[in-house]
Amino acid sequence: MRRDQHLSSVGGMLPDYSTAVLRRPRPRQYFAGTVRVPYIAPWTGENAPPATITTRLGRGGMGIGYADEYGIAERRRGALWIRVPVKPGAGAPLLDRVHALRQRQAMNFMLCQYCGRPTDDRRDGRRLFLLHAGTGRPITDGEKTTTPPVCEGCAVEARGRPSARRGCVAVLVEEATAWGVAGLGYAPATLRPVPGEHGERFTFVAYGDPRLRWTLACREVVALHGCTVVDLEDLRERTAA
Ligand SMILES: [Zn+2]
Repeated sequence: MRRDQHLSSVGGMLPDYSTAVLRRPRPRQYFAGTVRVPYIAPWTGENAPPATITTRLGRGGMGIGYADEYGIAERRRGALWIRVPVKPGAGAPLLDRVHALRQRQAMNFMLCQYCGRPTDDRRDGRRLFLLHAGTGRPITDGEKTTTPPVCEGCAVEARGRPSARRGCVAVLVEEATAWGVAGLGYAPATLRPVPGEHGERFTFVAYGDPRLRWTLACREVVALHGCTVVDLEDLRERTAA
């Protein structure tokens, strides 16, 4: 198979990334003391200096790229993805941060952000998301998020965690569709990163948007449809019943 040959040939260059990005992971649960480490949390051992960004002529025109880029593993729907080492368990976990590749995997395969297992554990086929409620704004159809779903067991456990409850709203979702990426925009003239809107770290860019070619993707963004806000207390009762 040609694709497999390519993958093995690239193995020396991107050993963890190229395989991890394409396959559904078999997650292992790590602990920090007695605390379960979320699947999407990065570890200090996964730090690496940023790769050099250059310009590249691709489908649709000029954009950013890597000098030693390998297409299948590093691009998706035209977006160039940030390179991150994959060494879960190495060093100490950074509990409040997000590992770009595991976030992408969690979104692509609809895996629980806490345990990394599939979130298809509801009989009605809906998936549960714990979203940041922000300033109390309503959750509307087409809501865009970088926060992967949660399985019911982990949602119930999250109830007891003040950090998870604070400012979070639980939403049952009928369908989550690929929308675009959140990432760092680069100025075509200078190849310098451009600050996001309203001082945000990342800019949200939809698939098909010409700005995608100048964006280094750091998070997968999905749009949520058929949203129903629920109370986490109700979930616990239903699960216990
Ligand atoms: Zn879970």
